[in-house]
Amino acid sequence: MSKQTLSFQAEVAQLLHLVTHSLYSNQEIFLRELISNASDACDKLRFEGLNNAALFEDAPNLEVRVTFDKAAKTLTITDNGIGMSQQEAIDHLGTIAKSGTKDFMGKLSGDQKQDAQLIGQFGVGFYSGFIVADKITVESRRAGLKPEEGVRWISGGTGDFEVETITRAQRGTSIILHLREDAEEYLNAWKLKQVIAKYSDHISLPILMEKEEWKDGELINPNDENGGRQPGGMVKTGEWETINKASALWTRPKKDITEEQYAEFYKTISHDHEAPLTWAHNRVEGNTEYTQLLYIPAKAPFDLWNRDKKAGVKLYVKRVFIMDDAEALMPTYLRFVKGVIDSADLPLNVSRELLQESRDVRSIREGSTKRVLSMLEDLAKHDKHTAGEGADGVTDVVSEEDKAKEGKYTKFYAEFGAVLKEGLGEDFANRERLAKLLRFASTQSDTVCVSFADYKARMKEGQEAIYYITADTLAAAKNSPQLEVFKKKGIEVLLMTDRVDEWALNYLHEFDGTPLQSVAKGAVDLGKLQDEAEKKAAEEAAEAFKPVLAKLKEALKDKAEDVRVTTRLVDSPACLVVQDDGMSTQLARMLKQAGQ
Ligand code: ADP
Ligand code: MG
Repeated sequence: MSKQTLSFQAEVAQLLHLVTHSLYSNQEIFLRELISNASDACDKLRFEGLNNAALFEDAPNLEVRVTFDKAAKTLTITDNGIGMSQQEAIDHLGTIAKSGTKDFMGKLSGDQKQDAQLIGQFGVGFYSGFIVADKITVESRRAGLKPEEGVRWISGGTGDFEVETITRAQRGTSIILHLREDAEEYLNAWKLKQVIAKYSDHISLPILMEKEEWKDGELINPNDENGGRQPGGMVKTGEWETINKASALWTRPKKDITEEQYAEFYKTISHDHEAPLTWAHNRVEGNTEYTQLLYIPAKAPFDLWNRDKKAGVKLYVKRVFIMDDAEALMPTYLRFVKGVIDSADLPLNVSRELLQESRDVRSIREGSTKRVLSMLEDLAKHDKHTAGEGADGVTDVVSEEDKAKEGKYTKFYAEFGAVLKEGLGEDFANRERLAKLLRFASTQSDTVCVSFADYKARMKEGQEAIYYITADTLAAAKNSPQLEVFKKKGIEVLLMTDRVDEWALNYLHEFDGTPLQSVAKGAVDLGKLQDEAEKKAAEEAAEAFKPVLAKLKEALKDKAEDVRVTTRLVDSPACLVVQDDGMSTQLARMLKQAGQ
């Protein structure tokens, strides 16, 4: 292929513009992205090599080398991973294939600061090189192809890029960054080591740099005052040293890992720029053996509501990377969880189809789900806003670690509470644990912190149900005429304003033996809460109004199924309710919006 110039896909050009203009404040992440790509490329080779050992050629030790050239002002990251063919270079470095990109682009506001945050979440990957470089040269050869089938890709990070065929003896990829003037600090071994230690220590691959040593300048004139020497400097020795720990973070003992290292690892796998809320790192033994490192993010991603969104857990088998976002490892309602599962039992050639059927996977999923729920339970009980006075609400804040959990469940719930509710319909085995984790606003609390257990603890003498109302907003819920009698009698009602509430509550009929009752459905039966006099008055009223009701029914016959006298109202003359077994108005509205 002779040299040709191609245009970037429109989204890439747009992204590049953003990268160079808004990611400036966090320059050094480019190194994390490029090293993580190098590591991915080695993972892929290792994986393909399972069935085709010839791909390793004569270089079975996978590694990354970082070099720089002060005179040329270039920084080069070289890996001997899978490499790219010419077509792959064109496809992978010129377009964004990732699903959700369009979504993402739609979210960009034009406000640089906000967009920079979004971009951090999205992960700009390879293109982050343009934060520090005004030109990037990529030279690559795919494992298994001939040396003459190498490719060189060059771009200045604006509208287009050039590709041409080259001969490259070495398998793998070199990313050569031609540094901008304001990024020349990366032409320094100390600086590079520092950034790599910060972002890439946990990468299981060795990252090598050439050793340097001090060399005095040349002796010119021994009789000269200053010794007659040219200035000295650091020179390369030709010897290489591994500068990272080079062992996958999750394989190390917990006690050897600092909080910062856990947080950095999270940022690498999640592309999130914020530290996670909490995590759990465990080695599970039993029927099936695996290591889990699971994180709960502090912030919801922009595409949380996309149920097709890929899950965030990576699958490894005996430290060999198998796949990203293995959805079989986590139920959909926990799609916000990020992390790594490393199985000791699954076969290395496991496919997505096989995963769905594997008993080991099922038991990993169950174990991981339980782990996430315990993390959440732990946060909930250490957060004074959510710990409550209910059955499980015992706060035992003793250690510094416990104190650090204060406020976290509230934060979690604001971001992910609504997704968690999907679990009621999805994960029957854990329904009760999930129900205990739910929090609501109520007629006694504007903040979303009331658990079913709190509610039960405050129930009135003789009250037989947990009452709730669903509405679009808190204000609408609070002002609903359907609450009048409850207010008058001082009975608490849970106010539910998430869109999924209605759907989720179809799957939860009771909590700890107490039925849940919507105040907007059927004839609200206050049971023992109503005294005899009230009951009698209601019956008399029903009798007295019979003729009026008959007329109203006739007049509304196409619009209402029934018209009846109610005790639920105090000030308002009338309100709409649905039949006991009917769809609630809220659900009906939701379905209508969804076009059904
Ligand atoms: P991501 O890593 O999330 O896929 P990137 O923008 O970081 O996105 O990289 C885009 C694609 O370019 C990768 O998926 C991969 O196919 C290819 N690529 C990037 N760097 C390398 C590399 N060092 N070796 C092989 N392929 C690479
Ligand atoms: Mg990447």
